[in-house]
Amino acid sequence: MYNRHHYIGGKSVEGTSGRFGPIFNPSTGEQQGKVALASKEEVEAAIANAEAAFPEWAATSVVKRARVLQNLVHILYREKDKLAEVLSSEHGKVFSDAQGDVQRGLEVAEFATGIPHLIKGEYSDNVSTGIDMYSMRKPLGVVAGITPFNFPAMIPLWMSCMAIACGNTFILKPSEKDPSVTLMFADLWKEAGLPDGVFNVVNGDKEAVDTVCTDPRVKAVSFVGSTPIAQYVYATSTAHGKRCQAMGGAKNHMVVMPDADLDQVTDALVGAAYGSAGERCMAISVAVPVGKAVADKMVEMLKPRVEALRIGHAMDPQAEMGPLVTADHLAKVRGYLDLAEQEGTSIVVDGRKFEYNMQGFEKGYYMGGSLFDNVKPEMRSYKEEIFGPTLQIMRAESFDEAIALPTNHEFGNGTTIYTRDGDTAREYVNRVEVGMVGVNVPIPVPLAFHTFGGWKSSAFGDINQHGTEGVRFFTKTKTVTSRWPTGIRSGAEFVIPTLNS
Ligand code: NAD
Repeated sequence: MYNRHHYIGGKSVEGTSGRFGPIFNPSTGEQQGKVALASKEEVEAAIANAEAAFPEWAATSVVKRARVLQNLVHILYREKDKLAEVLSSEHGKVFSDAQGDVQRGLEVAEFATGIPHLIKGEYSDNVSTGIDMYSMRKPLGVVAGITPFNFPAMIPLWMSCMAIACGNTFILKPSEKDPSVTLMFADLWKEAGLPDGVFNVVNGDKEAVDTVCTDPRVKAVSFVGSTPIAQYVYATSTAHGKRCQAMGGAKNHMVVMPDADLDQVTDALVGAAYGSAGERCMAISVAVPVGKAVADKMVEMLKPRVEALRIGHAMDPQAEMGPLVTADHLAKVRGYLDLAEQEGTSIVVDGRKFEYNMQGFEKGYYMGGSLFDNVKPEMRSYKEEIFGPTLQIMRAESFDEAIALPTNHEFGNGTTIYTRDGDTAREYVNRVEVGMVGVNVPIPVPLAFHTFGGWKSSAFGDINQHGTEGVRFFTKTKTVTSRWPTGIRSGAEFVIPTLNS
């Protein structure tokens, strides 16, 4: 049994609130540790440290900041497997998938090494006689990240690398379910040469989040998690004068046209719906075959594949899917499957029946993959996010009926279309009301140099994660109008300057 505390001002700091949360090993179902839950005062201490470290870090040359990021990239490659192992033990995703979690975050660190170029401003020479105008991107100050359980490496790296490269000091409030990887990051940042106080971790729950969202010293909050909390964090932070980006939940549809290659579609659906036990905000949770023939064939091809999913503990090299994150989450997902049954869904494969009996793992939070057919738009099990290993099939008669489903859904994170027809794909890409779209790609997660963000109830705020939007989020623009030489005198002018001079 281990204890996880906070990391403030360059060192590990014991929690003093007296409150702790449990850390489970989802593969075994045992509690393996506990995490300190910070009080308001402890979060305020972290903010004070980050505020004290800000002037020096903001004044550090951009090339030196980039070099810290370069060092971090090398260290992260060196430590990738260790990080992935710890991540698997607290999250439950299989080791190879955990390596991907670290890798996708690492790629944002790689992107952030380009900060000298990314943060360049604009310059206009001689905008009026003897007058130059330029704009600079300045860091905001102390900024914070609040992250979900499902990508405990990638999402903290998305936020921290961009924020720190831009010259801010950073406070991370990771998920209390799997906090260990972020504390390992703290040591790695230090080894990379980051000064104390620039990267801080406060573990905690609502009390820590509320403090971060209301303290006037925190200038921006980047959040990823479920929609109700995203909305709450966005409303609270912006009401307290902060910049906020808050990414929320999802329900991602894959439209399958009659001309699609169904072997490709089956492979894509099995990976995208059941990988990471469906606990991905870009998982495909709804398949929309167009026409009865495609739907019948698709169900026939999917059924044996879902039944044959290899489910095992996180470090089993044969396992394709591990357990769910906690017993509570397992119960929530099972509850949705019960609801779907009551609502009249046709159950093709029932994951509730799965039992994993390997010695030592009998108490883990396992369930099998589920496949449901004849799902209807009015069902609550369709409207809400299940976040488990379940694929819902909604049969559509036409392309227009199919595209209406993701377009009219409350969430708008990701979607994809499988077709061999360029016109259809192009129309889908242009018309669908969703932020991230794939064409014959199962999980269209943008790479580090593009930006990540959904539409509608999948994201609140205007600026996406990473890519050049990450630089926009973590900086503010200062625009300077400058006249040289100083000897010019034109007398007092009482009208607004225009371009006539
Ligand atoms: P969550 O909303 O329960 O928790 C996210 C963060 O908010 C955690 O740090 C948690 O401690 C904090 N939190 C929880 N309850 C709170 C409360 N009442 N007040 C203040 N803070 C609170 O989300 P989760 O279960 O950790 O993660 C899964 C969710 O995240 C899913 O809905 C998934 O779709 C979403 N997600 C979205 C994206 C995206 O980019 N859109 C990416 C990953 C995950």
